[in-house]
Amino acid sequence: MESTAARTAPAVIVAIDGPSGTGKSSTSRAVAAQLGLSYLDTGAQYRAITWWMVTNGIDLTDPSSIAAAAGKPDIVSGTDPGAPTITVDGTDVAGPIRTQEVTSKVSAVSAVPEVRARITGLQRSIASAAGRGIVVEGRDIGTTVLPDADLKVFLTASAEARAARRSAEIKGADVAATREALIKRDTADSTRKVSPLAKAADAVEVDTSDLTLQQVVECVVTLVEEKRAAK
Ligand code: C5P
Repeated sequence: MESTAARTAPAVIVAIDGPSGTGKSSTSRAVAAQLGLSYLDTGAQYRAITWWMVTNGIDLTDPSSIAAAAGKPDIVSGTDPGAPTITVDGTDVAGPIRTQEVTSKVSAVSAVPEVRARITGLQRSIASAAGRGIVVEGRDIGTTVLPDADLKVFLTASAEARAARRSAEIKGADVAATREALIKRDTADSTRKVSPLAKAADAVEVDTSDLTLQQVVECVVTLVEEKRAAK
């Protein structure tokens, strides 16, 4: 339940970054809901543009074709942490962006500078329109998208813990194959030239390997409340 203090508190921008399977989405949504903030899943935006490119037959082995198409789809994110939405040209793509095909192709699309410029622009305008504040989760939020965020959190976890969580989410997935796919995607995301996955120098690192979701949420909520009190 949201407190009176939360309703009158100044707007707060929270950046939560980290690799796949560290609990970013669940944590970010729960923190936003608990504190009455908006929520933005930036991975969903990169997945949405990738889905559009796959659907429209763009050659994803050719960065110049990806760059030329980057401005075409209209991507709209709904920022209610209780029911986040994502549409492309008016079509609900919440399901299709989670397919294996999109997951395996998103790193190639998100490495293209024109794609990042487009999506980063959308992210900044959503964050600046969130009157009471927002929790934004991704890979480069603290370093590049919102370098002036009030609080930056970098979530980590062992490869084993991350693979176990992801394969539990995907029914019947093989843990070893999931682990390999996660590592491959993280390597691609961490080594790309433009705004790679990285911890900001002023981010608080939280290793979630041996923590429950509730413990991670409590930890981040406490950090946000400390920042709010100091504002
Ligand atoms: O978070 P999620 O696994 O849905 O992200 C999908 C992909 O989107 C990542 O593997 C990465 O390639 C890209 N991404 C990114 N920058 C962000 C968020 C996601 O490049 N801020």
